[in-house]
Amino acid sequence: MRILLAEDDLILADALCRALVQSAYAVDIADNGEQADRSLALGIYDLAILDIGLPGIDGLEVLRRLRARKSAVPVLMLTAFDTLADRVRGLDLGADDYLSKPFDLPELEARVRALLRRGSPHPAPSLQHGGLRLDTVDRRVYHDNQPIELSAREFAVLELLMMREGRVVSKEHMVNHLYGWGDEVGPNAIEVYVHRIRKKLEPLGCEIRTVRGMGYLMERKGGKP
Ligand code: CA
Repeated sequence: MRILLAEDDLILADALCRALVQSAYAVDIADNGEQADRSLALGIYDLAILDIGLPGIDGLEVLRRLRARKSAVPVLMLTAFDTLADRVRGLDLGADDYLSKPFDLPELEARVRALLRRGSPHPAPSLQHGGLRLDTVDRRVYHDNQPIELSAREFAVLELLMMREGRVVSKEHMVNHLYGWGDEVGPNAIEVYVHRIRKKLEPLGCEIRTVRGMGYLMERKGGKP
């Protein structure tokens, strides 16, 4: 899952980025409104966190342009002061949630998880695939309630596949949703992660299929339609 964080307070941005990366999200930081607007226009983000007070065009204008492009990406607004006018305007322009500064990191992380769940076809705190359960809150994976050790990136790859259970996920989609601008992406990066996950999951009877020329697939399991 890839997040755009538009925040010009670079100390705050850096702290938020670190916390989110630790939870296996890919994060790009924009420190001004134009950059945030250009980045969001790429259409690769699963969530945007927009500070209202940005240099150049402000966070509200970035949001207005985003919704004018008919993008449904969930948006969490950050406000410097909890002013009613800003909140109302943000919600009217299509923000999904807001948080006023100063806030505690766990609260921001909880709101991020809630918004990402809302945007997913499985609005539950965990994703299930046979005996496999991916907990989106504690960011861990279990098989028959036994924890499976995965790196942050392996977790993120598996999350994308389980969110789209029954559908093919292309490598391009994975690269777009797993890496930020500063990340080095080797040509076989995705294959390597899928290979590592398979080594851990195949003994448990969980299969990731390769669909040649298209991507990867986890078949639907259980009594779901
Ligand atoms: Ca600001």
